Amino acid sequence: IPVVAIVGRPNVGKSTIFNRIARERISIVEDTPGVTRDRIYSRGVWLNHEFSMIDTGGIEFADQPFMTQIRNQVDIAIEEADVIVFLVNAREGITDADERIAQILFRSHKEVILAVNKADNPEQRQDIYDFYSLGFGEPLPISGTQGTGLGDLLDAVVAHFPPEVNDEDDQSIKFSLIGRPNVGKSSLVNSILGEERVIVSNIEGTTRDAIDTHFTDETGQEFTMIDTAGIRKRGRVYEATEKYAVMRAQRAIDRSDVVLFVIDGADGLREQDKKVAGYAHEAGRAIIILVNKWDLVEKDTKTMGEFTEKLRGQLQYLEYAPIIFVSAVTKQRLKQLPEMIKTVSENQQRRIQSSVLNDVLLRAVAITPTPNVKGHRLRVYYLTQVAIKPPTFVVFVNDPDLFHFSYQRFLINQLRDSFDFSGTPIRLIARKRK
Ligand code: GDP
Repeated sequence: IPVVAIVGRPNVGKSTIFNRIARERISIVEDTPGVTRDRIYSRGVWLNHEFSMIDTGGIEFADQPFMTQIRNQVDIAIEEADVIVFLVNAREGITDADERIAQILFRSHKEVILAVNKADNPEQRQDIYDFYSLGFGEPLPISGTQGTGLGDLLDAVVAHFPPEVNDEDDQSIKFSLIGRPNVGKSSLVNSILGEERVIVSNIEGTTRDAIDTHFTDETGQEFTMIDTAGIRKRGRVYEATEKYAVMRAQRAIDRSDVVLFVIDGADGLREQDKKVAGYAHEAGRAIIILVNKWDLVEKDTKTMGEFTEKLRGQLQYLEYAPIIFVSAVTKQRLKQLPEMIKTVSENQQRRIQSSVLNDVLLRAVAITPTPNVKGHRLRVYYLTQVAIKPPTFVVFVNDPDLFHFSYQRFLINQLRDSFDFSGTPIRLIARKRK
């Protein structure tokens, strides 16, 4: 999916615009409790165009001179984005830094849209025509504080997207290996592809941030493995920040059906791990947790159980994700991986007939009566599946406000008990019956 980056010198309002667009103009997936949202990257839709958006201002380069910082941020935008929104400030006019940025952008031959922020009133909107001299065509007036002009800006952005590639012929299951540096992703990639029953058909460096490898398992199932570890980008800019690594992982997740979330079994779970796992969960991807380097762990009969219990406590929202203890070195349990990926991918695409769903709903309500809040009882009328990837259900109720979290969880668990949804998140939405 196309990538949009917002660049500009500090204080022109990049983050305000980014957050405004993220909040109001595009639909983003819901927050996961306990996961800090990474504020520099978000995914959304405008006029049926899906895209992701980077706020380069959120990528910090500590201890570097002003111009170097800006330069690094612009370099990242040029490297990563299909369309760049170059943001300037109507109140301050064109500054030296703006001109420097314009020169770098100009040489990049990227699609650049010039937006003039803080154009809050008609006089300031007059002044924006000065910005023609930057050489990027018509400047678009916007106001981050008032929210005006954003629709026109997004129209211009999507109009510059590259033509969509039609990959409907591609029947392969797309999966990525995600995890912080040194958990063993590259080693796992090599071990999976080195399995004798795997036939690698073609390797292509299709994207800016991952190497895609197509392979077929012994049953004839096709897979595309998205390997972010295979690309180590040149230079300090790319390794400079943890945020940047997180963003790259997020982009691989966007392109995946199934995410293999790799944890270092000898080292345990860290904060950065949780962030990326939370993103995969919110994006509705099927997830398998791989506890790697299991060969290094001194074990007795209880070790696996204890590790599992601890992990479940740390990643409660991933309760549906199978955990498998592997080793890239000894190849322990790697043989069963393609089969597991296939299973969770099928579960993620499972469709249940409404008649069957409503049997489950009736039974659920009989087991646990709906909550009654101050004399108002929740009534549930009808349950239907509206989407797959992930399976998404709508339940029609008398009053969505009465549909509390605990009852939602109860119904989701009833669905999980009744059908095989292991490995995939489930969404349940309450709607008021008309
Ligand atoms: P990446 O940064 O996630 O791609 O991690 P690498 O694949 O580069 O692995 C980091 C280090 O861990 C390397 O020294 C690997 O040899 C080692 N390693 C990876 N997987 C395993 C494993 O299953 N067992 C052991 N003992 N070492 C491993």
